[in-house]
Amino acid sequence: MNTLWLCLCAGDILLKREGADGAFSLPMGVEPPVPLKPWNHVTSFKDLKIDDLKIDDLKIDDFKIDDFKIDDLKIDDLKIEGLVQQKSLNQKSLNPKIELRIVRLDSPVVGVAGLEMMGLRKSHAVLSAEEYKLAGKAAELIYWDQNTKYCGCCGAPNKWQTEISKQCTECGKEWWPSVATAIIVRITRFKDLKIDHLKIEDQMQQQSLNQKSLNRQMEEILLVRAKNFRTNHYGLVAGFLETGENLEEAVVREVHEETGISIKNLRYFGSQAWPYPFGLMVGFTADYAGGEIRLQREELTEGGWFTRDNLPPIPDKASIARRLIDDWLLQA
Ligand SMILES: [Zn+2]
Repeated sequence: MNTLWLCLCAGDILLKREGADGAFSLPMGVEPPVPLKPWNHVTSFKDLKIDDLKIDDLKIDDFKIDDFKIDDLKIDDLKIEGLVQQKSLNQKSLNPKIELRIVRLDSPVVGVAGLEMMGLRKSHAVLSAEEYKLAGKAAELIYWDQNTKYCGCCGAPNKWQTEISKQCTECGKEWWPSVATAIIVRITRFKDLKIDHLKIEDQMQQQSLNQKSLNRQMEEILLVRAKNFRTNHYGLVAGFLETGENLEEAVVREVHEETGISIKNLRYFGSQAWPYPFGLMVGFTADYAGGEIRLQREELTEGGWFTRDNLPPIPDKASIARRLIDDWLLQA
């Protein structure tokens, strides 16, 4: 069976260059893309040819997920779009069953023709949506493996039980991946809430504006800059779900804590696995209900209302934040 190799090293994934046009894919083949050294087999790995191992400085965690069904991972409604690139996996996934091997490299692969290490988030722009999702899954499983080596109850070593679970070798407690859930919300309002409907109509007549252009001028989105943003972009209010909370309560609380305003008409938008390092982002939209912006200075450095014509730098296309913002931009 052909194998898809998901080889990661410190957040970077090994990609195969598909030509000179900047297209990449995940390496595929019976043999691994680079010689591997078995270090910590998570499951039996009969096919690995020990004699072939040549690069001693590679330490590997091998996960083997047999008969991995690519079709199960197709979540087309996410519509995560990067640059238009060769969708190499689309041809590969014509075979519905494919073997997936996840490999943790101890050092990056450099100087191998046709292969390149790339940051996982950056890879969103060059991989197909399917491949990017698989890469994220691999990154999350590696992260989870590294953080669940010992039982949280008794401290004994855990061992892999299934492809996605472990069991304590002493007390028998089972451990399953439990992602960190975060909410993110797009809040919009009309610029001047004092303008009532009649006045808007009046203004439309006076200025010969249609509803669309009026919306474009009058509607604003709340954007904030978090302290932990590495670039100068603005994003949406977001935060982690707390224990005992439902998602809606988390949204209301985060918005109030971070900005001091209140919201209404909360609606579910969509969700996205977020392997940085191990999360699920749940997106919502809401309307502004009241209050003045008071930024939570421990979390945010900037924040305010922006019209469509006056947007600051916004997040890259890998994020659900960008999908929420793009969706709003398209409404006008
Ligand atoms: Zn235990």
